[in-house]
Amino acid sequence: MTDVGEVIDEAVRALATRIAHDMIPLKGWDVNLMQVTPNAGHGGSRLGQKSNTTIAVENEGILNLLLQFFEQEDFQEQAIEALSQLQDALVESELQPWPMCLRHEHVMVPTGIGEELYWVCPDDDEIRVRVGNL
Ligand SMILES: [Zn+2]
Repeated sequence: MTDVGEVIDEAVRALATRIAHDMIPLKGWDVNLMQVTPNAGHGGSRLGQKSNTTIAVENEGILNLLLQFFEQEDFQEQAIEALSQLQDALVESELQPWPMCLRHEHVMVPTGIGEELYWVCPDDDEIRVRVGNL
């Protein structure tokens, strides 16, 4: 029998590794994993849901963003939302649109294609890079 919590936990770890790789060019930003107690007042916990391993995004050593994931919800949808939150945090922190499209002067959009997550050009979905392969 597979424990749903463990499956999500592994998926979150893999996603954190991919995000960390894609953020390498961004100076001062770090991605770590942490365990957050549900309803501990971090603002992201949803009542009655168990939060698993959480992705902590730091800027210059200061916690900027917590990306939490919940067993009861579709992982890919949560991952897309998390990537979108990360893009917003980067823009708010340093007016840095990220990641830039390979061909145009706009940001790429996190999108699920099949089982995988991609950064996709909003104008041409043929222009895409798998998250973690930037
Ligand atoms: Zn584009």
